[in-house]
Amino acid sequence: MTDTAVVPRTPLTVLGTGAMGTALARVWLAAGHEVTVWNRTAARAEPIAAEGATVAASAADAVAANRLVIVCLLDDASVGEALDGADLAGRDLVNLTTGTPAEGRARAAWAEERGARFLDAGIMAVPPMIGAPDSGGYVFYSGSPELFEEHRDTLGVPAGTRFVGADTGFAALHDVALLSAMSGMFAGITHAFALIRPEDIAPKDFAPLLADWLTAMAPAVHQTADRLESGDHTRNVVSSLAMQAAGVPTFLRTAEEQHVSPELLAPYLRLMERRVAQGHGEEDGTGMIELLDLRRGA
Ligand code: NDP
Repeated sequence: MTDTAVVPRTPLTVLGTGAMGTALARVWLAAGHEVTVWNRTAARAEPIAAEGATVAASAADAVAANRLVIVCLLDDASVGEALDGADLAGRDLVNLTTGTPAEGRARAAWAEERGARFLDAGIMAVPPMIGAPDSGGYVFYSGSPELFEEHRDTLGVPAGTRFVGADTGFAALHDVALLSAMSGMFAGITHAFALIRPEDIAPKDFAPLLADWLTAMAPAVHQTADRLESGDHTRNVVSSLAMQAAGVPTFLRTAEEQHVSPELLAPYLRLMERRVAQGHGEEDGTGMIELLDLRRGA
């Protein structure tokens, strides 16, 4: 977070006072920014109005109030719906609504056609992490580097900022890539707890073992990047895919013994076996990324 003492206090608009929009608006207000808000359901803007925000009667009025307009609505469709009819000419639209890369790019073209400048964003935080500098929360931004630089200090008030490129789709892509990896991790955590659940093992005793193991395995992402950059999946392999795949029946039999459905684990294990069957047993698991590439007829 930027030192609020040196931040020029740009007045701004926040469209959407759901859980995230409210958290953002609250921090900007506390830092001394004039904040205008709009929410489809007016009652949901009342708490932030009580903290000093000005409530606009319509999205169009809220957009007219300030050049910098932060959009934090449910999804891309709701952004189109809310801004339909608003005059966007001369506005700087910063879209913190979660969407896909293609939605980010299309929304940028849509905004530019209407005379607005546009940044897309992806929030790597939950509301309690907003305005909490030590929480590790931050926001990905992509689009015009000049526009980002212009608003960098203001955008950095509620959470850290990471600009990831001039391609407007990149913020959403980074956001969803990280969240997708998180989903895989949660799938593994779910399966692991299901395995121990029938036994006399306290989840509270098991949890630190699992957390430490996941932390120890996390640096594998750097080896993956290294192999992808070199294009050589056999580089510095410690546990070959053939060796890993040989363990697959053990994983599946253990699930069966514990009366646990293998549905979360099986797709990854099947991919591993497919890569080995194609003659790539000497590789590390990074070779499986090739199998997921649909452009190559995976
Ligand atoms: P909420 O469900 O709390 O709020 C959703 C907001 O979108 C409300 O302001 C709602 O208005 C508005 N909305 C929904 N549909 C429409 C529509 N058709 N037209 C106009 N407004 C509409 O969600 P959050 O505030 O938590 O999330 C907002 C964005 O932030 C989402 O894209 C989410 O993915 C992202 N985000 C949220 C995180 C979180 O942990 N909460 C984490 C990271 C990102 P109304 O009150 O009238 O329904």
